[in-house]
Amino acid sequence: MVRRVAVVGAGVSGLAAIKCCREEGLEPTCFERSEDIGGLWRYAERAEEGRASIYRTVFTNSCKEMMCYPDFPFPDDHPNYMHNTKLQEYIWKFAEHFDLLRHIRFKTLVTKIKKRPDFSVTGQWDVVTEKEGKKETEVFDAVMICSGHHVYPNFPAASFPGIQKFKGCYFHSREYKEPEKFRGKNVLVIGLGNSGCDIAVELSTVASQVYLSSRSGSWVMSRVWEDGYPWDMKIVTRFQTWLETILPRALSDWLYVKRMNWPFKHENFGLMPVDGTLRKEPVFNDDLPSRIACGVVVVKPNVKEFRETSVLFQDGTVQEDVDVVIFATGYSFCYPFMEDDSIIKSRDNTITLYKSILPPQLEKPTLAVIGLVQSLGAIIPTSELQCRWAVKVFQGKWKGTSWANDLAFPSSDVVRNYQYGTSNTLQMDYITYMDELATAIGAKPNLPKLLLTDPRLALEIFFGPCTPYQFRLTGPGKWSGARRAILTQWDRTLR
Ligand code: FAD
Repeated sequence: MVRRVAVVGAGVSGLAAIKCCREEGLEPTCFERSEDIGGLWRYAERAEEGRASIYRTVFTNSCKEMMCYPDFPFPDDHPNYMHNTKLQEYIWKFAEHFDLLRHIRFKTLVTKIKKRPDFSVTGQWDVVTEKEGKKETEVFDAVMICSGHHVYPNFPAASFPGIQKFKGCYFHSREYKEPEKFRGKNVLVIGLGNSGCDIAVELSTVASQVYLSSRSGSWVMSRVWEDGYPWDMKIVTRFQTWLETILPRALSDWLYVKRMNWPFKHENFGLMPVDGTLRKEPVFNDDLPSRIACGVVVVKPNVKEFRETSVLFQDGTVQEDVDVVIFATGYSFCYPFMEDDSIIKSRDNTITLYKSILPPQLEKPTLAVIGLVQSLGAIIPTSELQCRWAVKVFQGKWKGTSWANDLAFPSSDVVRNYQYGTSNTLQMDYITYMDELATAIGAKPNLPKLLLTDPRLALEIFFGPCTPYQFRLTGPGKWSGARRAILTQWDRTLR
């Protein structure tokens, strides 16, 4: 019988885990190494060890209606896309509203998680923690790992010959906080992900010149999409997902490329992804195209070699007098507290998780990794549904076949680590994934039935944005406000 659950981390995923455990009558204890909740969204002046670090101007890429907890919409007066401080306010309101704080032990580092000797029978774990130098070991029936995956920099020095010779300053984007100290400098930003684009655009207002180097290009989307509505409310719909499944591949690829090129033609800006039809996660930046058009950001190909003060690029061009290089090369996964980290991470650095949550080789399914997915959907609703699913699995109350039978899971259920330049391997279709989890716990909206009983709602669910409320409309964890929240989502967006 699972009763006590250890939750590692009190970011948005950890808070969801605490709430879901409570809803199912379990006893969660959340360990948070810092003195606050919010994880990545709590801005600090300096990067702190073991915690994600953001720059001062980070805004959300997902809009408020798509990014909320499914039974806790954002207040009406919140903008559609939020500064990190505004999101942090919401996270606090959520934690207070659902009385989650009393389950959290702050300034408590989880140092070791190991199977108990009788794990194959009990599924229990020893969790070792450290607070103010004092170690403690406790036994838990299950563990939810919510420690985040934007913490450990992926800094592939070997991919950048000559970097040791470079006399300027270089560092990973995790260390970047604000632009002022780069005034008048020539800065090279490597990597065309969200951080790379944000940093390049921000620096272009103070630096002498910014160069943005990309190995494989990226689709760059704007938060403000058709008719000025949030991109995700227009694109992340069941109708779009359905179209993807019925259209011939060539036609759907053509439509995809056409849509991505809608605001500007990527080829003309040197941003075209190498494999343009791959559903690689786009980056979101409203200003990059105009910064490139104004010449303050210059797009460059991959770096071939660093020299003392200059950089040679793959196309043979050399950029002289580079003062600063920022590696916005993403993050690697790391679970330093797992005694046997092969439970999650294999030797070749790949990660294999059933439904992107459970390590499949465990004799008992009592360990869940939450938030380790990347899709067009926002992380809060994804983590929330993962937690609901995991808690049901812990309790043996799920609609899958038996744990042993499901070990032969399809490859779409496997998540692999992403290395610089191959981040698409972590990608999955948001709605398909959410529906899969929701079906297993009986929370997927029944559209045919709704079409007969509540056609207005059914049409909004199918053609409108797939907002998180859809997964609290029915079944266990049903929220009585979900219908109203769906029917008023556009009002809140406009307000
Ligand atoms: P985190 O927020 O990283 O929280 C993990 C927590 O675990 C931290 O508080 C940490 O202190 C704690 N912890 C770690 N190890 C231990 C330990 N051993 N013991 C105790 N505590 C521990 N996602 C979106 O959906 N929309 C966005 O707009 C968006 N924008 C982003 C912008 C940037 C710049 C970045 C880097 C990411 C963005 N993301 C976005 C993804 C982001 O990862 C998620 O939004 C979210 O913060 C992940 O939450 P989490 O709770 O899983 O992890």
